[in-house]
Amino acid sequence: MALNVVIAGGGFGGLHAARRLERRLPRHSARITLVTQENFMLYTPLLPGAASGALEPRHVVVPLREELDWAEIRLARINGADPKAKTLALTTLDGREVDMDYDQLVVSLGSVSRVLPIPGLAEHGVGFKTLPEAIALRNRAVLHLETAEAIDDREQRREYLTFVYVGAGYAGLEGIAELQDYVTDVIDRYPRCRLDGTRWILVEAMDRVMPEIPASLAQFATRELRGRGIEIRTGTRLDEVTERSARLSTGETIATRTVCWTAGVKPPAVVRELGLPLTDGGRIDVDATMRVKGQQCVWAIGDAAAVPDPARKGQPCPPTAQHALRQGRVVADNVARTLAGGRLRKFRYRTLGVFVDMGQHKAVATMLGVRLRGFPAWFAARTYHLVMMPGLARRWRLMFDWTVGLLFGRASAELGGLGHPQGLDAQLDPPVQTGEASGGLPAAAESTR
Ligand SMILES: Cc1cc2nc3c(=O)[nH]c(=O)nc-3n(C[C@H](O)[C@H](O)[C@H](O)COP(=O)(O)OP(=O)(O)OC[C@H]3O[C@@H](n4cnc5c(N)ncnc54)[C@H](O)[C@@H]3O)c2cc1C
Repeated sequence: MALNVVIAGGGFGGLHAARRLERRLPRHSARITLVTQENFMLYTPLLPGAASGALEPRHVVVPLREELDWAEIRLARINGADPKAKTLALTTLDGREVDMDYDQLVVSLGSVSRVLPIPGLAEHGVGFKTLPEAIALRNRAVLHLETAEAIDDREQRREYLTFVYVGAGYAGLEGIAELQDYVTDVIDRYPRCRLDGTRWILVEAMDRVMPEIPASLAQFATRELRGRGIEIRTGTRLDEVTERSARLSTGETIATRTVCWTAGVKPPAVVRELGLPLTDGGRIDVDATMRVKGQQCVWAIGDAAAVPDPARKGQPCPPTAQHALRQGRVVADNVARTLAGGRLRKFRYRTLGVFVDMGQHKAVATMLGVRLRGFPAWFAARTYHLVMMPGLARRWRLMFDWTVGLLFGRASAELGGLGHPQGLDAQLDPPVQTGEASGGLPAAAESTR
C-alpha cells in the first residue's frame, strides 16, 4: 500500500518539504498531501516591497500548484490532530469536518503576531505579517494623505501624517523604511501634506534595533534611518493605543492614526491542539533530526518548531525563512530515510547571511562574513531574492516591477475596495410603492390620470 505522507502548512517549510519529497519518494509507492489554508506561499522577505507599492502583490506569492508536480494539495483549516490515531482534524472549504489519515506527518504551521495585552492595541493596531495586512497598510497611508489634504486644521492633519511602528526586527525596520520611502515618492502630489511633512517613529523595547545582525550593521541601519528623519526610540515600550494616539513608556503621547505592531511572533493556537509536546516558548519540541520528541511518525519544522540551533547551543533556531526552507529539505530526506531504513540527518545549517532592505536603494547585509552597506548591500539583497524566488517567470516579474518603479515612481491609487465589491443589492432601485403608504398620490387621483 502507498505510504501516506501529510504536510501541514504550505509556507516556506511545507513547500520545500513537499518539493524534496516529490524527488525522494517513488511516485507509485507514496502519496504526498499538502494541507494548507491558502493555495500560495507568501514570500515574506518581499512583503515590505508589496506594502510600499514597489511590487505587485501577486508577484510576492508562489502558487503551490505551479511549484508541485504530483503532490496533492488540499485547502482546509487544520483544527487539531490525534497522534495515536494518526489523524489530522480539518474543516474543508465547503465547511465539512474531516479526519485525514497519515502514516508520516510533517507540521510546518508557521507563526502569528505576538500581540501583548496593551490597552487598545488589538482594536487599533495593524499587524504586518500577511499580504492583506501589507496592502491595508499601503492603502491606509494613501487614504491618510487624501484625508489630511482635505483638513484645514494643522494639528488634526498631523495625526494622519504620523506613523508609529512598534518592534525593530526585520518586519518593523524594513516595513517602516519602505513605507516612508513610498510616501516620500508620492507626497509631491499632495501640496498641503508636502508642506507639513510626515513623521515616522520606530519604537523598540530592547536597547538596539535588529538583534539578528551584527551591532555595527545595526548601528549603520540606525544612522541611515535617522538621517532620513525616522525617529528611533530604543529602550521604549508602547503602553497604550487609542484611535488617535500612541502612549509610550517614556510618558510621551504621540498623536497618530497608525500604529503598526511588529514586535515578535508566536506559534498559532492550533499548535496546542495537535497533542504534541511543546517547549516553554510554545513551539513544538523536536530533536536535531526534527522528529517530535516521543513520536515516531510526526516531524515539525519552521517557526512553529523549536529545532535546536547548531549555531547557538541550547537555543532554538530563529524564526526565519532561511531556516524553515532548509529544515523542509532535511526533514523530507529524513522521512524518506525512515522508509528506506537509512540514518537520519541532523539539521546543521548556520546562517550564511542577512539582508535588511531599507528602501531608497540602500540596505545592510552580511554574507559569509562579508559586511556590506548602502547600494552594494541593496543590490546583493535584490540578487539574493531573485535567486531564491522559485520560478523563472516570477523572477522576471520582480525585475520588471523594480525597474518600472525605478524609472517611473509608484502609483498613488487607493484600492482598498479590491476584492470587496458592493453586492448587487446596493444597485437595486428602491421599490416603487403605491397608495397612501407611499406618501404619493392617492389611488383615486392616480386612476384618473
Ligand atoms: C514582514 C516579514 C519579513 C520577513 N523577512 C524575512 C527575511 O528577510 N528573511 C528571513 O529569513 N525571514 C523573514 N521573515 C520570517 C519568515 O517569513 C518566516 O520565518 C517563515 O515564513 C517561516 O516559515 P514556516 O514554514 O514556518 O511558516 P510560514 O511560511 O508562515 O507558513 C505557514 C503555513 O501554515 C499555514 N497555516 C497556518 N495555520 C494553519 C491552519 N490552522 N490550517 C491550515 N494551514 C495553516 C499558513 O497558511 C502557511 O501556509 C519575515 C517575516 C515577516 C512577517
